[in-house]
Amino acid sequence: MIEIKDILLHISNLTVHYGAAQALFGIDLEVGKGETVALVGANGAGKTSLLRAVMGLNRPSGGRILLDGQDVTGRTSAAMAARGVALCPEGREMFGDLTVKENLELGAMAVKISHAELKRRMEEIFARFPRLKERLHQPTATLSGGEQQMVAMGRALMARPRLLLLDEPSLGLAPLIADEVFDIIRQLSRAGVTILLVEQNAARALTASGSAYLMANGRIVTSGRSERLLVDPELRRAFLGAASENNPAASRLGGAGLTNIRLVKPDMSKQTFMPPFKSVAELQAHQLQGLKWTVRHAYEGSGFYRAKLDAAGVSPDDIRSLDDLARLPFTTPEDIRDGYPFPLRSVPYEQIVRLHASTGTTGKRKIIGYTQKDVDDWAHFFARAYEMAGVTPLDRVQIAVGYGVWTAGAGFQAGCERLGALAIPVGPGNVDLQCEFLMDLQSTVLCCTASMGLLMAEEVNKRGIADKINLKKVIYGSERSSVSMRKKISELFGGVEIFDIPGLTELYGPGTGIECPHHDCIHYWADYYILEIMDPDTLAPLPDNEWGEMVVTTLSKEAAPLIRYRTHDITRIIPGPCTCGTVLPRHSRIRGRSDDMFKFRGVNIFPSSIDRLLSEIPGLGSEYQVHLARDDHGRDHMLLKVERGEGVEPGRADELGREARYVIKHKLLVTPEVEVVGYGELPRSERKSQRLFDTRITDSVV
Ligand code: ZN
Repeated sequence: MIEIKDILLHISNLTVHYGAAQALFGIDLEVGKGETVALVGANGAGKTSLLRAVMGLNRPSGGRILLDGQDVTGRTSAAMAARGVALCPEGREMFGDLTVKENLELGAMAVKISHAELKRRMEEIFARFPRLKERLHQPTATLSGGEQQMVAMGRALMARPRLLLLDEPSLGLAPLIADEVFDIIRQLSRAGVTILLVEQNAARALTASGSAYLMANGRIVTSGRSERLLVDPELRRAFLGAASENNPAASRLGGAGLTNIRLVKPDMSKQTFMPPFKSVAELQAHQLQGLKWTVRHAYEGSGFYRAKLDAAGVSPDDIRSLDDLARLPFTTPEDIRDGYPFPLRSVPYEQIVRLHASTGTTGKRKIIGYTQKDVDDWAHFFARAYEMAGVTPLDRVQIAVGYGVWTAGAGFQAGCERLGALAIPVGPGNVDLQCEFLMDLQSTVLCCTASMGLLMAEEVNKRGIADKINLKKVIYGSERSSVSMRKKISELFGGVEIFDIPGLTELYGPGTGIECPHHDCIHYWADYYILEIMDPDTLAPLPDNEWGEMVVTTLSKEAAPLIRYRTHDITRIIPGPCTCGTVLPRHSRIRGRSDDMFKFRGVNIFPSSIDRLLSEIPGLGSEYQVHLARDDHGRDHMLLKVERGEGVEPGRADELGREARYVIKHKLLVTPEVEVVGYGELPRSERKSQRLFDTRITDSVV
């Protein structure tokens, strides 16, 4: 049957960017007059971006939108409303303080109608949603979720739209209420309302629509008549998972509400996670777009950033070139702690899908929120890190870093899954299990800390199993390591290739770059953040090749963007192109910290927090030293030397030592040896005393 339809909405080759990140890629879509068209896809597929672009809430970066043959690309939402387009947004976005009546009246604002007409339309809405009439003078916030959805739909219908955009109308509703909402959608459809419907529950969307477009990763992957898509065995397998063949609507999917749609695995051998840039100029253009977006997003979304930017006298409109970065104020780890528990939050709480925390020990932890896009971006560039290290979907990746609230395990895992390799999430420690899996599962890649790498290498050597394992690469992060240590790890494992991977919780987590396959630098993801090197004392910019503090500005991070964030990590920018041929810029491996923080067995510790704990123990003096050493087995040891207080008798040394050990173990989660010495035995200095003696790394780190 050839169908000739009168097209109301015609979208061609539409693209949308958020900052530096592209959300929609060449979308083509048609909605016929009177038709209900569904957009189906997993969270983050781009459905809402598309709807918002049609409503004029996102400005497209390319392509065209025609409404009834007229080009309306890039029109404002007010202009679109005046042309008869109404959006019923996801999450209702109701004015909760307003009554049902006031909310409905708002819906007709854009169309300017007489009082009599307003009354007439309101009666129409009550005919469709009788329950709203009973609730007419109640604040909308006091209604149930289903009733709020009805107010939202009623509000959109008050304008008698030619095109009704419905975004996730069943989201968060109990199944029975969702059924009711979808019954109303079908009624509207029968009454001739043209509807573009976004819905995660694929079965529901397909049964309520005439035709549908399936989206993934910002693209339309297929489209067609909904009833055909619903029963197409190939598509069912690819998009809908397993469900009963005969009655899809009543299937597990329909009943349970499908929220995750598994797409077919792409051809992993052909995919790449590298950026498309061919030149530095292209990369910089992308950075400028991302910088503009970030400053505006942070300014509009975060009270903290707004105050900070206002105080610095910078507005988002002032960012016109990358040089304007220098006008922006710095952000510090203290700012993050002060904002506890949701620091730098620049999106509504509802948009945050995950939290991670750093292993900080000074006061409050650093907790960082992530939107779905942040999580996706992180997985994407972590997959890139694996790709740069030559890991392929055929590899078996044994992940021996910490899982839990820390970013390490989550990052290594997500990147591995995104790449399509086999992930073996063992977690840290447990040497017996690690060795067993290295042999039995023939893992080809081991991800760990440097000291864990050395420990494992020695264990493999000691057990004489080097020829029974199949390890090709070790990817390690989170700790500084020396050249000799790297060499030893590589040799003991029988010649593995070693990659250092940097990262930082505030900047997503690990995987923000990786050691070059030519092994003389770290390539970092300049399409996700801008790296500056500053003098840690004066905060003046340093020229390339000079060591200084790494300061980062993110380009598309949503939940907690970073603007000139002081990482306190010491590195330098290595200028010029790399022999490996990538356009991505590079820095040296991290050499140390600009503050006194040190890392001990995976825990970040500031001497000041030891200071604070010791000062709370009566009988101890104010002088102390922290000695860090690494034994031949790669295990780190901490010796804490602390003085007795003036006049405290020597016989109390044991008791004081035990107490100090107990307090530090419980507060800092590391166990030091404690030596209590006599008052005045530790050296004094007029200037800042040296407290930290770290002999773990004795040779060059670069
Ligand atoms: Zn390189």
